[in-house]
Amino acid sequence: MLIPTQVKVQSPLSQYPTLTCHCNGCKRRSGGLASFAFCVPKDNLVSITGDTHHTYSDPDTGSGKPMQRSLCTKCGSPVLIIEASQPDTRCLQYGLFAGCGEELPKPQLELFWKEACTWEEQVGSDVREEQ
Ligand SMILES: [Zn+2]
Repeated sequence: MLIPTQVKVQSPLSQYPTLTCHCNGCKRRSGGLASFAFCVPKDNLVSITGDTHHTYSDPDTGSGKPMQRSLCTKCGSPVLIIEASQPDTRCLQYGLFAGCGEELPKPQLELFWKEACTWEEQVGSDVREEQ
C-alpha cells in the first residue's frame, strides 16, 4: 500500500500492533489530542523517499531519551516516530492512512493516560502511564 506521503507498507494494516499516546509532546506534534500509530517493523516499510520527509530529534519525551519524528515536507503531515528504546520499529501515524479503504482500528496500547483531557474516554486494552 503506497500512501500519499510516499510511505509504502506491507498490508494488511490489521497485522500490526497499535498505540495511542496522550503525552504533551504527541499532542503538540500531532496537532490533535494524542498520537495514534501502527507499530511497524522497519523491514515492512518497502520504501520511504527521504527527500520528501524531514526528520528531527525531539528531546521533549517522557523517558528523557530523544525520539526521531518525521514529517512530510510536501504536505506537512506527521509521518512516523522512532522511539529511542525501539530503533527497529516505525510508529506510522494513523492519519497517513485516512481514506485508504481500511478501517483504522481502536489502539491496543494507550500511553500517558494521566495527560489526556478529562473528558476523553479510554480506548486501549492496555493502559499505561509510560512505555
Ligand atoms: Zn507521546
